[in-house]
Parts: sequence; C-alpha cells; structure tokens
Amino acid sequence: MIHDTIAAISTPTGEGGIAIIRVSGSEAVRTVERIFTAKEKLSEVQTHTVHYGYIYDPETNERLEEALVTVMRAPRSFTMEDVVEIGCHGGFVSVRKVLELLLGNGARLAEPGEFTKRAFLNGRIDLSQAEAVIDLIRAKSDRAFKIALKQVEGSLSKRIKALRHQLVELMAHIEVNIDYPEHDVEELTNAYIKDRCRLAIAEVDDLLKAASQGKMLREGIVTAIVGRPNVGKSSLLNALTQENKAIVTDIPGTTRDVIEEFVTLNGIPLKLLDTAGIRETSDVVERIGVERSKHALAEADLILLVLNHNESLHEDDLKLLEELNDRQLIVIVNKTDLDRKLDTEQLARFVPPERIVMMSVQEEEGLRELEQAISMIFFEGKLESNDLTYVSNVRHIQLLNKAKASLNEAIQAAELFTPIDMVQIDVRNAWEELGEIIGDSMGESLIDQIFSQFCLGK
Ligand code: GDP
Ligand code: ZN
Repeated sequence: MIHDTIAAISTPTGEGGIAIIRVSGSEAVRTVERIFTAKEKLSEVQTHTVHYGYIYDPETNERLEEALVTVMRAPRSFTMEDVVEIGCHGGFVSVRKVLELLLGNGARLAEPGEFTKRAFLNGRIDLSQAEAVIDLIRAKSDRAFKIALKQVEGSLSKRIKALRHQLVELMAHIEVNIDYPEHDVEELTNAYIKDRCRLAIAEVDDLLKAASQGKMLREGIVTAIVGRPNVGKSSLLNALTQENKAIVTDIPGTTRDVIEEFVTLNGIPLKLLDTAGIRETSDVVERIGVERSKHALAEADLILLVLNHNESLHEDDLKLLEELNDRQLIVIVNKTDLDRKLDTEQLARFVPPERIVMMSVQEEEGLRELEQAISMIFFEGKLESNDLTYVSNVRHIQLLNKAKASLNEAIQAAELFTPIDMVQIDVRNAWEELGEIIGDSMGESLIDQIFSQFCLGK
C-alpha cells in the first residue's frame, strides 16, 4: 500500500515543554531534510537515530528552531512507513510554523487518527488495538490507562483469536460431517456441538463481565450524592473537588439541578453527581430537580447517602435505606462537630460498619476514611486480579452480545435436531462477529468511522 506523506503535531497543543511533530510516509525523510540542517544528511543516517540541528525556512534561509529529529525507517515504525519525529521546545507559534514549513515542502496535514489508521491498514496493529489507542488518549485515570495499554499490547485480541480458533475447529468438524456423512470420523453428535458452544459462551461471558468495569474506568464510576436538604451534600462535593462550583447555602433545597464533577481518588475515577434533596415536594421547580435526582440515583454505580449527625433519622432516610439495600452504598454521617441526635444503633441495622463514615466536612474530618471506604468497594470487585483484559469499548460489547446470541441459536438448533448445515450457519455467524472485534471482515466506512474519533496527530 502506498500512502502520501502526512504530518501533524502529536503532543497536546497549548501545553508547555517539548512538542513533537510527526511525519509519516515514503517522502517523510526527504520532506524533513528540506527544512532541517544537521551535521549529517538525514537521508543518509541510520534508522532509529536522533539528530540535533536547526529548522530553517528554505525560502528565506532564516533559522527558526533548535530541534531533535528522530528517523525511523519502514517497517520498524508505528505506521510501518518511514517516520520522522521532530522534537522542538518553544511555544505554540513556532511549532505551528514548523508544521507549516512541512506542509509547504511535501507533506499533507494528517486527518485525526490517520497515523493509527495507517498502522492498522499496514498490518501493524489490529482494530481492537487501534481502539485501545483511542482509549489511551482519553483515559481519565492511571488504571484505565494501564488497561488500555494492555489492550494495545493485544491481550483482548489474543483471547478473541483463541476463541475464534475453537469455533473454526468446531466448524471443520461439522463440515466433515456435512461433506462425508458416512465418513469414518468421530461421530459428530449434537451433544458435542452444544458442549463446544457452551464453552465458547462461557468465554464470551467472561469478557462481557469485565466490560462493565472497563466502562467504569473509562467514564468514571457514577457516584450519586443523595440525602435530605441541608445535610451537606454540596459541601461534600466541594470538599472532594476542592473547587467551589456548587452553591452552598443555609436554605433547604437550593441545589435544584444535578451537578457533575470528575475527581480521581486513589487512582479511581469518580463522576460525582450532587442531586437535589430527595424528598416529596410541592414546589414545581424543585420537583423537576427531584425527578432528575431520582434518575441519577437509578443510574449510579455507587451511592453516597449523607445524613445529619445533628438530626434523628428521618422517615425519608429510612425509606431510602430500605430502597438502597441491594446497591453499592456508603452512608456518611456528616456534621459530627455538632451534637449527636442520630440513633447510630438504628442506622447499624441497615448498614454494615465498614460502609458508615463519620464526617465533618466543615472541620475537614473523615474525608480520608471516605476515600478508603470507596477504594475498598472498588477493589472488592475483582479489579485487583492481574488479568487486565477488559472490554472497554461499546462496539466490542455489542459484538460480544451478538456472538453470544448466535451461539445460543446454535445450541437451540442442535437441541431441535435441525439439519447440521443450519447449525453451521449460526457458528459461522458467531465466528464472524468475533472477527469484527479485531477487524477481520470490516467495511471501509466503519473503519473510517472508528478512526475519525481520534484527535489529531495520533
Ligand atoms: P445540601 O443541601 O445537602 O447540599 O447541604 P449544603 O452543602 O448546602 O450545606 C448546608 C449547610 O450545612 C451549610 O450551611 C453548610 O455550611 C453546613 N455544613 C456542611 N457540612 C457541615 C459540617 O460538617 N458541620 C457543620 N456544622 N455544618 C456543615
Ligand atoms: Zn446542596
């Protein structure tokens, strides 16, 4: 495959430090050579070497920038084409200027994701790896980053490939039976087909189970802060975000809308939702807020129920405690700086002690304990296991579900003693659906769609 030469700034713009401009394509070295002088001629240097020199404008001969230029020749590069990376410090303006020089001397501005797309098209990475690169760019936490990295290294692809291999074996088995019904092979019973399909489903389920955790890591654990008006929900949100975005007041019911904030606690990304007080109300505006907070509550992965140490348990609180019985819940007893009027023994009947955190947001007490309680819940879910093969992509989840449905159809067909070549169709469908995850048998337009999600320069 022959591609023209593309260039883009591949470090985030606007941030200080060193900027990298990446050039890829058969003319990459020659293009950079036109605007760069160093001791040696770039076209003559060894691959994978770094060269110090100056960027200059060939029209005016004006020197612009000091630069470190790295040459990586095909196929040992990310795109499997000739790649040259120009590292320069200096501000955004001079980086733009270097890019403009490249564009005036033989390169074209890369589309978003085009470097990764080339790596895919040239066979360097498969599609699930390419999508993991998108996740890497977007990862909001250390842990999400590690998982995406693992996926780039291909652990999801490996499992999908092994699974597809099993299905190919099954199909071959079935094929032998169709072509040579009287052939002296091990008799292919329906029971055998069902067995193999069930094994495959178990593996698909395993991948799907990890999917929800993958999603949490990418998007943050949706955490609803609920409780009656004035217990300190907004104050808590502020303490956690250390910004003063939510309005804190003494008048009950001022937080009318749901406020969202992203925070990272011990490497765990949380998407915090501060909700209007959950309670029955006649005020129309407030009721809208209550509806929203009920919705937030339904969506939440984790619920922080805030109570007031200075008040006895309210009927609303008891109702919530009962309703949230089977959810991931942490109860925060706030305002411990004030007298205790809350019946802690009554509370203990609803919630185990490790899920209750005593706190005074005002005195900045109990925040560490809350962080620990959240971490504990998070790590109880098998996240600490070393297997980081998480499915972190909506498209993957859909395809896994489709493959599972096809396998179930195969089992049903086998149960009904459907002609064996019909069973074969279901198995083949599952095999194809799994193949789409790693980019076998994909239409060009879907490929374009996927790569258009990238930001520039990747
Ligand atoms: P929300 O309605 O649940 O969001 O409650 P707010 O965060 O708006 O807080 C209501 C009032 O309680 C404000 O006056 C806060 O300053 C006060 N407050 C919050 N946390 C504490 C605390 O730990 N101790 C005391 N004494 N007051 C607090
Ligand atoms: Zn509030």
